[in-house]
Amino acid sequence: MSKTVLVTGGSRGIGRAASLLAAADGWDVAVNYAANADAADEVVAAVQAEGQRAFAIQGDVSRVEDVEAIFAAVDREFGTLDALVNNAGIGATQGRLDETLPEDMISTFAVNVFGLFYCSQAAVRRMSTRHGGKGGAIVNVSSAAARTGGVNAFIDYAASKGAVDVITTGLAREVGGEGIRVNAVRPGVTETDMIREVIEKDPAWMEQVVASMPMGRVGTADEIGHCILWLMSDASSYVTGSIIDASGGRAVP
Ligand code: NAP
Repeated sequence: MSKTVLVTGGSRGIGRAASLLAAADGWDVAVNYAANADAADEVVAAVQAEGQRAFAIQGDVSRVEDVEAIFAAVDREFGTLDALVNNAGIGATQGRLDETLPEDMISTFAVNVFGLFYCSQAAVRRMSTRHGGKGGAIVNVSSAAARTGGVNAFIDYAASKGAVDVITTGLAREVGGEGIRVNAVRPGVTETDMIREVIEKDPAWMEQVVASMPMGRVGTADEIGHCILWLMSDASSYVTGSIIDASGGRAVP
């Protein structure tokens, strides 16, 4: 039997890349998405073309009832879950903190932090040997912004990813003896729709960021996907509580 993974936000960008790389490595993939059913269906078809099982499941991870429905679908379709990739995230607000709207701060934390909490809870209840499970791996998608603080743009987003790093450390300790490894990837600027929206609003910001990068370029979704795949696979069997910086050398401001 193939191993199974749920990728939140698996329809586009980094989640899409992780889903396709997992399929090529022999995983069955549950592709969660928020709104873009066509993109999710395209990922499902690509996974199935690799000979693996896949299905798309709509659900907003910031809503606990949606998360319950997402995991119920995994139970129904796969019966077991070996890995969770907490990838769904938003970074809509861009600007100084004194100009950021309270509702934008709240939605950023609702998806990036509470969504990750709800999905992790549901995964631990299925994977932990304490609950009769057989163990598994959780991979969180953080951001280099957790270390830079956002630098004059989206501090609320950076703070939400700081929380992701803390959750990674704490949960790894909590469930390390229950067969579950918990790790994270901290991508730098990566070519996806999320970053394309930021560049459209402020092209100068992008030029500054690239100039500050030792490798002198942004990353690709596949480059982040490979890190995710390694952390969810047995190749990293003695790694937990770790956070990989995949940011072209731009780990600090
Ligand atoms: P993206 O291209 O905007 O894709 C976002 C994905 O998340 C889509 O599949 C979207 O679904 C899904 N999604 C958004 N809100 C959701 C919600 N509430 N519930 C469920 N799914 C939701 O983003 P990306 O750049 O690939 O980012 C993926 C992760 O990497 C995020 O956590 C982001 O913070 C992190 N990251 C990105 C970068 C970067 O430079 N791109 C850098 C560091 C970290 P739909 O297709 O249905 O909209």
